[in-house]
Amino acid sequence: MIYVTKSTLPSYEEFCAEIKGLWDSHFITNMGAKHKELQYKLEDFLDVPHVTLYTNGHLALENAISIFEFPQGSEIITTPFTFASTTHAIVRNGCVPVFCDIKEDDYTLDPSKIEDLITDKTVAILPVHVYGNICDVDAIKKIANKYNLKVIYDAAHAFAEKYKGTSVARFGDISMFSFHATKVYNTIEGGALTYNDDSIVQTLNDNKNFGIRGQETVSFVGGNAKMNEFQACMGLCNLRHIKKNILERKKRFEYYLEKLGNCSDVKIPINDSETIRNYSYLPVLFCSDRHSRDDVFEILRNLGIYSRKYFYPLTSEFECYKNRFESHSTPVASHISNNILCLPLYPDLEFSIIDTICNVITK
Ligand SMILES: *Cc1c(COP(=O)(O)O)cnc(C)c1O
Repeated sequence: MIYVTKSTLPSYEEFCAEIKGLWDSHFITNMGAKHKELQYKLEDFLDVPHVTLYTNGHLALENAISIFEFPQGSEIITTPFTFASTTHAIVRNGCVPVFCDIKEDDYTLDPSKIEDLITDKTVAILPVHVYGNICDVDAIKKIANKYNLKVIYDAAHAFAEKYKGTSVARFGDISMFSFHATKVYNTIEGGALTYNDDSIVQTLNDNKNFGIRGQETVSFVGGNAKMNEFQACMGLCNLRHIKKNILERKKRFEYYLEKLGNCSDVKIPINDSETIRNYSYLPVLFCSDRHSRDDVFEILRNLGIYSRKYFYPLTSEFECYKNRFESHSTPVASHISNNILCLPLYPDLEFSIIDTICNVITK
């Protein structure tokens, strides 16, 4: 079986060496030594003033939204072309997602369509760097400044990327990264918030640890979203190999491009200009007729190759959201969602499998 991705693991020996000290200290969670070491190493690697670690990316995003204490019913402008987490994080904070359409070339939030959706209830913009395509951060910042809105990036797909020479971790008020097993960099489950503002460090730490500031001081109604020491150890190991892993992904990505480049029925919506990429996904848009995506998905599945209709359906079409919010039509997002397929891509994917996949597509 070939799946769309394969979790990156260090060698068994390397992981065992990393966790060995935990049997001496018996300190296995609550911001221990490994947690601190990973935080500092990520601040350095991502070139950002602050990293706060979480047990997963979703809770990181929920926490990021919560610290602004938006009134119930506040509106957040976002994309429906994303993973469930993005929209759920808004709704679970008592806010209303206002779905904005995406750009035709790179599927990120279309800044030219944002201003029409702004009302007196709008408090923030929550865009997604989908497939590692970096949003139009300059245009989004301009709109946010003009209307005094917060910007929270879902950067789950964009770990280690740079845009116009700047680390993606520095954009917006806060960015969220996911370190889930299926992502380009993993801590088994895990996630982080990155930001430049010193004044929110304490609030975020309170939020992820019950608001406990001292043994007898609880000053904030926080939850629990801490990353544990085993997760941090996996993160320390995987960070040693991230550059090589991205390079191996790049080779396979380019091989796909070589094989599919001349096929006029498909398009690979990757915007390479000004971005140092992480090659986490290989999305293909089928342009010919409306059955091709589903046909290719089926044929590959019969060969034991599991591609993903990622993202289909749009989050605005989920059972739990249909007809719940005022609907703004997002024709570009609908079209892309109906015709997109993510193909297998991971560091040790065999090139012969890529041949098989591309032969099915071109046929
Ligand atoms: C993976 C992902 C998340 C959620 O991260 P978890 O670590 O799985 O909780 C959020 N948004 C996007 C776009 C993702 O792909």
